[in-house]
Amino acid sequence: MSLSATSSFNANSVSAPSGLAPPPSGSPAVSLDKALRIARAKAYPEQMWWLIASFIAFIAICQAFSWFCMKLSSRSPSQSKKPADAEVGDSRSAASRRFSWRHFPSALINLYRVVAFRWTLEIGQSYTLNVAEVFVTCGYIVALSTWEFVNTTNAEGVKFDPQYWTNRAGVLAASQFPLVTALGTKNNVIAYITGISYDKLNYIHRMTARVVFVLLWVHGGGKVGICFPAVWEEWFVRVGLTALTAFTILILVSLRPIRAQVYELFYFTHFIMVLIILLGGYFHANMFHQGTYIWPSFLIWGLDRAIRFARVIYYNHLYFGFTSKSDRLDASVELLSPHFVRLHIHRPPHFSWTPGQTAFLAMPSVSGMPLEMHPFTIASVDSHYQLAGVKTPAIGDIEKKFSDALDVAPYWKELVFLINVREGFTKRLAGIAENGKKVKVLIDGPYGFSPNLDHDDTVVLIAGGSGVSFTLSTFLGVLSHVQIKKSICRKLVFIWTIRDATHIEWVSKALTKALEFAPSEVEIAIRIYVTAHNSDVDALRQVKSWGEDDSIHSSDGTAVGRSRPPSLLNFSAVQVMQGRPDLRALLHEEVAASSGGRLSVTVCGSQGIARVCRKALRVPVSTALHGGPSVVLHVESFGYA
Ligand SMILES: Cc1cc2nc3c(=O)[nH]c(=O)nc-3n(C[C@H](O)[C@H](O)[C@H](O)COP(=O)(O)OP(=O)(O)OC[C@H]3O[C@@H](n4cnc5c(N)ncnc54)[C@H](O)[C@@H]3O)c2cc1C
Repeated sequence: MSLSATSSFNANSVSAPSGLAPPPSGSPAVSLDKALRIARAKAYPEQMWWLIASFIAFIAICQAFSWFCMKLSSRSPSQSKKPADAEVGDSRSAASRRFSWRHFPSALINLYRVVAFRWTLEIGQSYTLNVAEVFVTCGYIVALSTWEFVNTTNAEGVKFDPQYWTNRAGVLAASQFPLVTALGTKNNVIAYITGISYDKLNYIHRMTARVVFVLLWVHGGGKVGICFPAVWEEWFVRVGLTALTAFTILILVSLRPIRAQVYELFYFTHFIMVLIILLGGYFHANMFHQGTYIWPSFLIWGLDRAIRFARVIYYNHLYFGFTSKSDRLDASVELLSPHFVRLHIHRPPHFSWTPGQTAFLAMPSVSGMPLEMHPFTIASVDSHYQLAGVKTPAIGDIEKKFSDALDVAPYWKELVFLINVREGFTKRLAGIAENGKKVKVLIDGPYGFSPNLDHDDTVVLIAGGSGVSFTLSTFLGVLSHVQIKKSICRKLVFIWTIRDATHIEWVSKALTKALEFAPSEVEIAIRIYVTAHNSDVDALRQVKSWGEDDSIHSSDGTAVGRSRPPSLLNFSAVQVMQGRPDLRALLHEEVAASSGGRLSVTVCGSQGIARVCRKALRVPVSTALHGGPSVVLHVESFGYA
C-alpha cells in the first residue's frame, strides 16, 4: 500500500525499501504527520466497518420488525373470507372505505415501500435502480470518500496532502475486500442475516467492487506524483500494479453489455482476475502488515466453494455409487417448443425447497466448460417440505390426490425446471431434448428465499414467458398452504403472458390438477395473455385441436379461436385472451376490490413487466388511510447479468 518511505504505516512496518524517497529529517512536524497518518489509517477502516455492520444489523432488525408486524396484523385462516362470500357490511371496496387515523401505521409502511422500492431511476432501456439501491450506493460512496479525504491537512497546514490520502485509499480499499467477496458468494452470510437473497445482493457486490476499484486507482495514481522512479521497480509495487491491472480487466469484462453477450468469457475471466487481485493485493498489503484485511477473502470464497462442493456430493452421492442403478437418476428432458425445455429430476434424498427457490444444475455431457453450473428456478413444489410438521387430516388427501395423478406428480414430488433456450448451454440442452435422450444432472441448492405469502389475503402472481417457473411453484405452494390452513389467502390471481398459444401446454396439466383439487375457500382467477398477432393462425389452429367447447378471446372480449385444452380451459376460473395484459388496470382493479388486509404482487418476467408493476403499485397514501390493503411487491428477475 505504501509506496513512499515517508508514509510507512506503522511502527512495525518494514524499513523503507531501496529506491524510495530519502528519509525525511526528523522534524517534529514530519513526526506528527507520520503518527497521525498511522493512527488514522488504522482507525478509519475500522470505523467504516462499524458503519457497515450497523447498517446490516439495521436491515436485519427492520426485516424482523416487518415479520413481527405481519404476524400481529394477520388474520387467522378462519377469519379470512373469500371475497365473493364476504357480507355486504364487511366489504371495504374502494367506494365504501372510510378515512381513519387507525390506518396511519399501515399507510406509513406502504409509503416506505413505495418510495424505497417502487420509485425508480431508469438508466437506458434495461437498467433500473430503485431508491433503496440508489441510497445504498450513494451512502457507500459518501462514507468511503469522507473517510478517505477527511483530516488530510498536514501539520504544516497543507490541505489534501497526498501522503495522507494515497495510503489511506489503499488501506480503505483493502479493508473492503472481505465485504465485496462475501457479497459475491452464493452461500452468503449477509443474505442469511438480512433475508435478501444472493442474486439481489449481487448488485451491491458489483457496486462495492467498482467503488473499491476507484479507490485503488486513487491509491496508485496518487503515488505517481510523490514517488521516485526507482520505487516502481520494487517487487511489492509490481505485484500491487499487477493486481490493479487485473482489477481493471475485471471491471471491463464485467460491464453489462459484455457480461450479457459473452457470459462464459466474463465468468472465467472473473475467476482468474480475482485470484490475481487477491494474491497480488495480499502480498502488496502484507508488506505493510495490512494483509489481515485480505486473507479473509480467501477464507470466505473457500468456504462458499467447500459448501457447494459438499452439497453436490451429498445430494448426488447416488451417482457416485457407479452402479447401473445410477442411470435411473438421469433427468428427462422434453422439448416443449423450439425455445423451451422442461427437465425433471428425481428429488435427491433430503433435498427440500420452498416455492420460487433456485438450484444450480451441472450437466457434464452438455457443458462446454468444466465446473459449468447454471441457475434455474424450481417450478415444482416440495410436498414433503410444505407438509412437514403439519398434522391435519387434509395431508393424506393431498399427497394421495397428487400421487394418483401420475402425469402431474412431478410437480409435487420431483424437481421440475422450465428452461428458456438461449445461445449456449441451454441450446445444447435443447438439442438433447430433441433427440429424446436423458442427461446426468448434478444439483446444488436450493438458493434464494421465497416470499412469505401466508399472511396475504389476496395473492397476485404475474409472469412473462419462462418466469412462469417462479409463479407456478408459488401458485401451487399457496394452494397447498391454504389446504393445510397455513395461509389465509382467499383470492389467488395468476396472470401469465406468453408469445404463442401453444405455450399453455407447458403448464396446463399442473394447473388443471391444482384447480381440480383447489380448496373451495379460495377464489382463483387464471388469466393467460397470448401476444402472438391474429395472423399467427398456425399456433391458434394447434390450440384449437385441444378442445371444442371454449374460445380464446381478444382483450376486447371477441372470440379469436375456439380452442381450449379440454381440462384446463374448461374451468370457469381460466380465461385466455389475445394481446398484452393491461397490468396497470388489472392491478388497480385488485387494489380497489381488496377488502383491506394484505395484497401481494409477485412478478417474474422481463424488465418491462416489472417496471409497469412498480409504477402501477405506487398506491397513494390516501388509499391506505382509507382502509385499503397493505400492498407488497416482490420482483424476481432471471439473471443479474
Ligand atoms: C436466480 C436465477 C434463476 C433463473 N431461473 C431460470 C428459469 O427458471 N428458467 C430459465 O429459463 N432461466 C432461468 N434463469 C436464467 C438462466 O440461468 C440462463 O438463461 C442460463 O444460464 C443461460 O445459459 P446459456 O449458456 O444458454 O446462456 P447464453 O446464451 O450463453 O447467455 C444468455 C444469458 O444468460 C445468462 N447466463 C449465462 N450463463 C449463466 C450462468 N451460469 N449463471 C447466470 N446467468 C447466466 C447471462 O445473463 C447471459 O447474458 C435464471 C437465472 C438466475 C440468476
